Amino acid sequence: KSLLKINNLHVSIGEKKILKGLNLEIKPGEIHAIMGPNGGGKSTLSNTIMGSPKGVVEEGSILLEGEEINNLTTDERAKKGIFLSFQYPEEIPGVTVQNFLRTAYNAVKNENISILKFEKLLKEKMALLDMKEEYANRYLNEGFSGGEKKKNEILQMSILEPKLAILDETDSGLDIDALRIVSEGVNKAKAKDTAVLIITHYNRILDYIKPDVVHVLMDGKIVKSGDSNLAKMLEDTGYEDIK
Ligand code: ADP
Ligand code: MG
Ligand code: MG
Repeated sequence: KSLLKINNLHVSIGEKKILKGLNLEIKPGEIHAIMGPNGGGKSTLSNTIMGSPKGVVEEGSILLEGEEINNLTTDERAKKGIFLSFQYPEEIPGVTVQNFLRTAYNAVKNENISILKFEKLLKEKMALLDMKEEYANRYLNEGFSGGEKKKNEILQMSILEPKLAILDETDSGLDIDALRIVSEGVNKAKAKDTAVLIITHYNRILDYIKPDVVHVLMDGKIVKSGDSNLAKMLEDTGYEDIK
C-alpha cells in the first residue's frame, strides 16, 4: 500500500513548465532520496507536495493514502501528516523555540496541549536528539548556527511525527555538524515509521543515511531510480551520463 503516490505530475510557475510528467511512489516508513542537478525541479516538487500556491498543477494527481490531495491547502496537508522542513530565515524576537514548536503542534494536531504537558514531550524529544535543555528557551534563530537551525527543523519533525517528512536541503551546503544532525533525525524518524523524502545534491549525506530508493530528478522528471548504489554511481559519473 502506498503512502504517497504521484501520477504524471505537471507543474508550471508563470509561463515556465517545471515538472513535466513526474511519477513517484513512497510506501509507509521508506526513505527516498531525490538527487539531481540544480534547477531540475526538486524544490518545486517538495513545495507542490506541500501545496505551496506558487506552482500551478496543470495535470496529474497527488494521492496520500489513496486520497487525492491536489486541492487541499498547506494547512490541511499538514494535518493529514505531511511535513516540509523549511527554515525561517529571519530571527523572530520574543518567540522561543518552545513557543514556536507548541504553536506548530497545536495547529497540526488540532489540540491545545498544556504548557506543562508540552514541556515534558519536548524534553523527551530533545533528549533523544541529544540537545541541551536551555535550547528550548532560546529565541527562534537568534544567533543560531547552521547546525542549530537544522536541529530545530529535525526537532519540529520529531514533535509532529508526520507520516511523510520532506527534507529539502536547499542549495546552501550543510556543514558536517548539520549533516550529522539531519542524518540522525532521519534515522530516528524511520524507527517511528515516518517516511522521509530527502532532497539533496550532496552524496555525502548518503554516507549517514541508507535510503530504500534513490531517484534522479532532471528537467522536471524522474529519469532514474535505484537503490543506494545509484548514489555511489552518480558520484563517479555525474548526471550527464544518465541523460
Ligand atoms: P532545484 O530545487 O532542483 O534546484 P527548483 O525547483 O528550485 O529546482 O527550480 C526549477 C526551475 O524552476 C528552475 O529553472 C528555476 O529557475 C525555476 N523557478 C523556481 N522558482 C521559480 C519562480 N518563483 N519563478 C520562476 N521560475 C522559478
Ligand atoms: Mg536549486
Ligand atoms: Mg532546490
